[in-house]
Amino acid sequence: MTDTRSTCPYCGVGCGVIISSEAGQITGVRGDPDHPANFGKLCTKGTTLHFTATPAVTRQTRLLQPLQRMTRKATPTPLGWDAALDLTTDRFAKVIKDHGPDAVGFYISGQLLTEDYYVFNKLAKGLIGTNNVDTNSRLCMSSAVAGYKATLGADAPPACYDDVNHAQCLFIVGSNAAYAHPVLFRRIEEAKKKNPAMKVIVADPRRTDTAELADLFLPLQPGSDVMLFHGLLHIMLWEGWIKPDYIAAHTTGFDDLKALVRECTPEHVAQVCGVPKADLFTAAQWFATSPATLSLYCQGLNQSSSGTAKNATLINLHLATGQIGKPGAGPFSLTGQPNAMGGREVGGLANLLSAHRDMGNPAHRAEVAALWGVADVPSKPGKTAVEMFQAAADGEIKALWIACTNPAQSMPDQATVRRALERAEFVVVQEAYATAATCDWADLLLPATTWGEKEGTVTNSERRISRVRAAVPAPGEARHDWRIVVDFAQRLESTLRPGQPTLFPYPDAETIWLEHRASTRGRDLDITGLSYEMLEHQGPQQWPLREGDATGTQRLYADGVFPTADGKARFAALPWQPLAEPRDSRYPFSLTTGRLRDQWHGMTRTGTIGRLFGHVAEPAVQMHPQDMERRGLKDGDLVHVTSKRGSIVLPVQASKEIGLSQAFIAMHWGAEYLSGRGSNGEPLAGVNALTTSAYCLTSKQPELKHAAVKILKAELSWNLLAVAWLPDDRAVAVQTELRALMPSFEFASCVPFGRERGGVLFRAAAHEAPEAAVIERIETLLGLGGTDALRYVDKRLGQRRTARLERSDGATRLEGFVLAGDVRAEAWIKPLLQDELPAEAYGRLLLMPGAKAPVAVVAKGKQVCTCFNVSEDDIGAQLKSNHGSDDQRLAALQNGLKCGTNCGSCIPELRRLVRAHPASGHVLQVA
Ligand code: SF4
Repeated sequence: MTDTRSTCPYCGVGCGVIISSEAGQITGVRGDPDHPANFGKLCTKGTTLHFTATPAVTRQTRLLQPLQRMTRKATPTPLGWDAALDLTTDRFAKVIKDHGPDAVGFYISGQLLTEDYYVFNKLAKGLIGTNNVDTNSRLCMSSAVAGYKATLGADAPPACYDDVNHAQCLFIVGSNAAYAHPVLFRRIEEAKKKNPAMKVIVADPRRTDTAELADLFLPLQPGSDVMLFHGLLHIMLWEGWIKPDYIAAHTTGFDDLKALVRECTPEHVAQVCGVPKADLFTAAQWFATSPATLSLYCQGLNQSSSGTAKNATLINLHLATGQIGKPGAGPFSLTGQPNAMGGREVGGLANLLSAHRDMGNPAHRAEVAALWGVADVPSKPGKTAVEMFQAAADGEIKALWIACTNPAQSMPDQATVRRALERAEFVVVQEAYATAATCDWADLLLPATTWGEKEGTVTNSERRISRVRAAVPAPGEARHDWRIVVDFAQRLESTLRPGQPTLFPYPDAETIWLEHRASTRGRDLDITGLSYEMLEHQGPQQWPLREGDATGTQRLYADGVFPTADGKARFAALPWQPLAEPRDSRYPFSLTTGRLRDQWHGMTRTGTIGRLFGHVAEPAVQMHPQDMERRGLKDGDLVHVTSKRGSIVLPVQASKEIGLSQAFIAMHWGAEYLSGRGSNGEPLAGVNALTTSAYCLTSKQPELKHAAVKILKAELSWNLLAVAWLPDDRAVAVQTELRALMPSFEFASCVPFGRERGGVLFRAAAHEAPEAAVIERIETLLGLGGTDALRYVDKRLGQRRTARLERSDGATRLEGFVLAGDVRAEAWIKPLLQDELPAEAYGRLLLMPGAKAPVAVVAKGKQVCTCFNVSEDDIGAQLKSNHGSDDQRLAALQNGLKCGTNCGSCIPELRRLVRAHPASGHVLQVA
């Protein structure tokens, strides 16, 4: 058994992991106790990483050799690496020759390592001569970049995780950290426990689990954040809570801002934001007068048509009150992806240059060109994510290279994205996972290595650079991302710079990193004192770490000097702007998107683990119960959710987390898991069929947090539910094959199922039964097509029942079933299968439409604790008999059921359940 220290590949917390491996296989993962981001802790996603890398899963999910499609929609066929790279070189060289360098585009990823990012950036800007290189980080944090630069002068988060231990006031806004940054949220919970006097303010349109820790919750209306921040500043000014000395010594532009916020009276702000006036005063007072105030924020501010203004006007509050540059204080943007920061550092975005240099600055361009040994780098900003796909849809970009990201799932306005992928003349997809939706559009698929196989570095939210290390060799013919770029670039050089020495002389990742390090000399993120060796011996380090420094820099701006021409920070006098697409009578709901606790992005990795579907099993749109009642909807009803761009069908679910006239769909539900047939017969495209690509004009980050939609009941009378256990080495492959059948129905979802065993759950609905062949195909894929299955068919009534039973350990158990037509028996048949209960007693009832179970079979309810498989019902039963304060009852619950005692991801939900269940057993409705 070998242990390898590395970093979790999911979120921007950047937890250290120790990977166990044996005989070339990853066998386990645990938190690294010495890593300063997590000190040994991991969340549900981190603790289950090794399940995504078992041989059974990788055989079904991984791309293991280059594949070429001769025509779109054709089955791809294998080709060798040399042929694949020659083909790519020929196609890209021809497009560049015929149409110029701006006719190609690279869409890359915050999941790439810094070294991968660096060579992609150099390939586009240094060799080809286009700035058309952008990344999915554009969807994640480009507003944070723009906000920092507009106010503090550089893209540098000034705070660190340790600041949660020093803060006296924590302002969490536009961030569901309990789900999106769970291990950081554990640190916040501990800090609050140690210091109950610390005030926690949470501002969000949704009352998420993060709000469970709040002393004050501000349920602001979608898109009203800038008005909230201006209103808080107005109150601070009025009450004399600002710091005139700090403002005079360290900032400029305050008078303009003061004039702007004069109109933002508490009455006006309360009305626009939907927040009571008294709460505005409390928030302003706590923020301004606390000895140290730390703001934590994320996509709620960033994914907005006024994302830059939201970021900058929050930073205004810190500058006006001097809440920056001291322990426990500062505006701290949390990054979504594990290496969004690394991408920013190497300038891997269409409007940036290496080491935080500006594309519009001729001196900066000259420095980068000199470093790379080229005559110049282009000055015209490239196409950002939304612009790039629009340009491809318009025929302007003809060759697209997509690496380590899944735009056919994650980009807004999928109709445009799909037009782009269809129209582009040549699409290269460089990917680890063959199951990503974007692979279906590739002319050429290049197999890449992934977590557990790669070497390099990543930077987390607090500017901390960590090593990523390989525990096992690359599978099949997969190559490292940087290696693929270098192999291609060296070929392209023979066309674009014949006879000249290569710009890509890299034998390994470290050589690339050393060039990146050299590019940072004298810059705000200077890491000339850092080396791979130092990371090996001293562990992860925060930038800057200049030559001669013994260690990295924990906090920035303690001296009040900012990286601007005059050393002063700049107030941003930016007015509040309404949403790009306001609600109206035709589209009366504000749809927002966000994360689930146990899933990651498009779920190419987490979507292979059944146990991660215990908390939220299937796609749904959440609405306020009053909105549902007004529309005659009940839990589980199917609804059409429709925006100006597209429409999807899915079940509705009541949730008091959601505000009135608002709705929520998790960002993860792409067409791989949620689809169906549109009115024109075309396949539906998941949640991002609905979202808008309207973006912030400064940061170009799209408004994924709001789209105006209408929600109407879907009258689909014919239903289907098919569930079966499957062998571990078939479950993911079956799910992939079932996807092809989803457009046979108006609504269909397909998800993994099961905890210790693997299975698949397929649910669908339509106006009428599809052809029998479609259901027979589903049965065959689920192992229910043979003569050993029991079957009942009534073609006239569109009813069908299939069940397969197996005898083992002295009992007969259900292995799989199909209910078609009437699915009411789901209430007892599904638990019978899920809990592997003896099924002899049910005999022919399994085949009778609408049959009730003869003995009580009760579903266990939603799984709350993933680690110990504890359900909401188990918790409710235990809470009936425990007494004391909320904290004591939570502790008793944890002692009794073990829930929340491993990774802790469920603690916020446990806290909510404690409040909802007084000891009498009477369930309160918690608003
Ligand atoms: Fe990974 Fe969870 Fe840590 Fe994020 S908080 S880095 S997902 S273990």
